[in-house]
Amino acid sequence: MAYQITCPSCQQEGLDPRFATTTCVHCAKQFNLVAYCPTCHAELERLQACGAVDYFCNSCNSMISKRQAEYKLTPV
Ligand SMILES: [Zn+2]
Ligand SMILES: [Zn+2]
Repeated sequence: MAYQITCPSCQQEGLDPRFATTTCVHCAKQFNLVAYCPTCHAELERLQACGAVDYFCNSCNSMISKRQAEYKLTPV
């Protein structure tokens, strides 16, 4: 199953990090999703390869997997 982020509204894992705007599969709330580097906390660049999303930190010059990234979710 695809990696999903915990929804701040219903506390269940239901947000897909592949989309900049993501909808919770459990409570149907919509969030804008921004990923940050866990090391330097800079905003990450989204890389899309073969359907899998990973992120790139321009300050650390390294790939960040979606499981490592820190997410900021803003309700739409
Ligand atoms: Zn939810
Ligand atoms: Zn970084």
